[in-house]
Amino acid sequence: MTQQDPQAADRRNEAGFVYLVGAGPGDPELITVGGVARLAGADVVVYDRLANPRLLSYARPDAELVYAGKAPDHHALTQDEINALLIARAREGKRVVRLKGGDPFVFGRGGEEAQALAAAGVPFDVLPGVTSAIAAPAYAGIPLTHRALASSFAVVTGHEDAEKDESAIDWEKLAGIDTLVLLMGTARLADIAQRLIACGRAPSTPAAVIEWGTLPRQRTAAGTLQTIADDVHAAGIAPPAVTVIGEVARLREELRWFDRRPLLGKRVLVTRTRRQASELARALAVQGAEPVELPTIEITPAVDERRLAETITDLRSSAYGWVIFTSANAVDLFADHLRDAGLDARAFGRARIAAIGTGTADALAARGLRPDVVPERFVAEGLLEAMSARVLRGVRVLLPRAEGARETLVEGLAEMGARVEELTLYRASVPDRPDAEGLRRLRDGEIDIVTFASSSAVRNLVTMLGGDVSPLRRTLIAAIGPVTAATVREAGLEPAVVAEEHTIEGLVRAIVGAAARTP
Ligand code: SAH
Repeated sequence: MTQQDPQAADRRNEAGFVYLVGAGPGDPELITVGGVARLAGADVVVYDRLANPRLLSYARPDAELVYAGKAPDHHALTQDEINALLIARAREGKRVVRLKGGDPFVFGRGGEEAQALAAAGVPFDVLPGVTSAIAAPAYAGIPLTHRALASSFAVVTGHEDAEKDESAIDWEKLAGIDTLVLLMGTARLADIAQRLIACGRAPSTPAAVIEWGTLPRQRTAAGTLQTIADDVHAAGIAPPAVTVIGEVARLREELRWFDRRPLLGKRVLVTRTRRQASELARALAVQGAEPVELPTIEITPAVDERRLAETITDLRSSAYGWVIFTSANAVDLFADHLRDAGLDARAFGRARIAAIGTGTADALAARGLRPDVVPERFVAEGLLEAMSARVLRGVRVLLPRAEGARETLVEGLAEMGARVEELTLYRASVPDRPDAEGLRRLRDGEIDIVTFASSSAVRNLVTMLGGDVSPLRRTLIAAIGPVTAATVREAGLEPAVVAEEHTIEGLVRAIVGAAARTP
């Protein structure tokens, strides 16, 4: 049984606190659950160059973000300045996350920062991270230990001059360890390799250098202790890189998995709303792509309060036969309105519910609602088909949705005799301040594939490009379905991929299929 330490609890409550958090080696999925939770609660985040900036999206929008990154040739903040900043913010009562690449206590100067905090009397926690020393080899298909090949490994800085007599590293002893992992400095690799050979390591010992490990741009050079420095030079491999020396490096040929993924290194533009982007971005990243987010749609809630109140009253008295949702946004906003009115799912009374698309159905499920109808084809026509067997004559149908949505549904339902009432809940518009970096990359030809999950994403992107679609001609265009594809064609472009299943998953599958056909 652990005794609750009331003093320790107090110490945490008095706010000012620093969390030294390991960001993992690069792949944003490799941060810990605890790290994400600390980021979400942080008032201030001080982050390094090698901490993936995508992780900052876990922080609150109002959190102060400070880049402390050290580019090889220019220091954004000196170590003393970083220490002083952490202490100052904590003393202001802030919760500070110090986000460091890999593990904070492996060549990360995390120990020094902790010492400075301890000396200043600032309380801190350490959340370890997945170090690049293990993760980069793992993503290259190299286990550091392996039965019969290696039963020990050491992680060493490659920064020290191996020729230096006063070198803190005992290369002679290290030569006897099965697997050596070098962090930092590929520049001294030739010297280090020669030194290890001089210490008795066979020149034919396998070696590999992994650049930007765990990220879409990961590259590996492989050779032997004798050749590796030249191999690295020939491949143009530069820091950050991890070097693995030992028999285990041989396993790569058999075990490489990361750089065999179908969309490896492909830069794919994600044009959904900021909130919806992450699902697609993650699905693409799993296939090896580098997702580039350029939100083309901004959702602004907009509702006529009086109409809303009347609608809710009618809904509760079961005046509507059907409520049809065509987007997850409509579901979320409508459910929020019910909640604000002090109501819950029971407000739907006897009305039946239809949803277009799994995303919409999922949003309903998250609110505890199961649609009675989800058409197989996720377009208005599919819903009309699915509804055609129902008796709709004289039935009131509620359609909560975006301003200016397609008329197909309204007209089709009206033809079946339904009394359709639209309730505008939001406006989907071109973002006020578009993501400049995403636009620049598209214009500069840095994008391989552009994805569109809706017609408005197509139209809005064209608007954001000032009507000049030429940057899109250099890319492969993937549309989620036939309606979106038609809008692409209206813009004078040709979609190379049209998903057969009109879901995010279906879109990714179609892109992977296309990539397999055109290597
Ligand atoms: N604390 C970090 C290491 C910081 S020292 C960790 O635990 O990973 C910086 C060195 O780490 C770089 O020079 C490089 O050798 C290595 N490194 C960090 N991220 C890397 C990555 N994604 N791929 C390859 N090497 C990386």
